[in-house]
Amino acid sequence: MAFATRTRESYQQELSAIREAGLFKEERFIRSPQGADIEVEFPAGAPGKKVINLCANNYLGLSSHPEVVEAARRGLDARGYGLSSVRFICGTQDIHRQLEGKLTEFLGTEDTLLFPSCMDANAGVFEAVLTDRDVMIADRLVHASIVDGMRLCKAATDTYKHSDMKHLEQKLQEHQDKQRRLIITDGVFSMDGDLARLDEIVALAEKHDAMVFVDESHASGFIGKTGRGTHEHCGVMGKIDIVTTTLGKALGGASGGCVSGRRELVELCRQRARPYLFSNTVAPVIVSGAIKVLELISGTTERRDKLEWNTKYWREGLLKIGLDIKAGDSPIVPVMLYNAKLAQDVARDLYAEGIYVVGFFFPVVAKGQARIRTQLSAAHDQSHLDRGLAAFAKVGAKYGILGLGKNEIIEKYGA
Ligand SMILES: *Cc1c(COP(=O)(O)O)cnc(C)c1O
Repeated sequence: MAFATRTRESYQQELSAIREAGLFKEERFIRSPQGADIEVEFPAGAPGKKVINLCANNYLGLSSHPEVVEAARRGLDARGYGLSSVRFICGTQDIHRQLEGKLTEFLGTEDTLLFPSCMDANAGVFEAVLTDRDVMIADRLVHASIVDGMRLCKAATDTYKHSDMKHLEQKLQEHQDKQRRLIITDGVFSMDGDLARLDEIVALAEKHDAMVFVDESHASGFIGKTGRGTHEHCGVMGKIDIVTTTLGKALGGASGGCVSGRRELVELCRQRARPYLFSNTVAPVIVSGAIKVLELISGTTERRDKLEWNTKYWREGLLKIGLDIKAGDSPIVPVMLYNAKLAQDVARDLYAEGIYVVGFFFPVVAKGQARIRTQLSAAHDQSHLDRGLAAFAKVGAKYGILGLGKNEIIEKYGA
């Protein structure tokens, strides 16, 4: 018997344990395109409910933009639905190379290679460019996909305390015996919304002969004056050796990712990166849509400017209400609740008020750091934000947390 009763029972117990720990994740079904206003079915089978979406990575509001949809449709007609191949066998069309060229120009790098996703880019890049004589030195809060990519690489691994430049310098000194040093960080950290100190990181890299890797998934398209990313914001464009980013967030929100950076490093990924060699090519329809996205955002900063305005308005609004938010400039705005159950209760009540947000707690964030991560979009109008703020004020009052700081919330609800 392939799946014996006791084998099934053992898996059922594992699932029960996840439920009992309050960590079971339920999917909600959206019955509309992604956008500021969506229709959600939750729980499954319930009638659809119209809600304002404050938890998508649709930063520029391009996920369902008519020009992007139209470009994708034209791409579908011109280059077909799928390629049934990896890139290096017969999965590369002219449009794949065209998109890579546009990404190179937009990110201010030397070359770019598309991957099926940024998760795949991160899974492949380290192994492709480093050996067991090298070392990877990563910020302790880097994205899970980077952690996985580092596991697949034979280079030595070390970490530095989150954004702690003194600690990073100490690690760089410790590893001077290694052939090559690679500093690894996110550009914008996804849970706190804070930016890496890329100017300082680049200076340390120059001083201690290291390379710099930055994952720009939560930055490409909107951070920096023209939306090029954290490197633009920090004044170090052209000085980052490896950038990875996703097409699955601000840049249209479909799927796909890339490794961009020094010509030789990108070429080594083309030769060796396993998710590039052994996973299917990005579909032509997505490539065509992404080319349009880059045209739209290279021509005007209108969308990232609106996102910046929305972010400021939302942050000020939450502070005025008396909620405890993480300071910063990015459109990731965490409302801190510290207690996992409180975060889930507040999210549920906000949903009842027509606001779609999700509570985050361990293991997604550290224990005692539960929160609701709100995310702004250029698709939001002021009226969306005003309705969101009214709902946060109402639910915050219900739980008696308005005006309370960290210690007071923890005193009241535990962490
Ligand atoms: C979302 C995200 C990824 C994964 O991107 P996909 O293209 O969806 O695989 C990788 N790194 C970071 C920092 C992310 O936020």
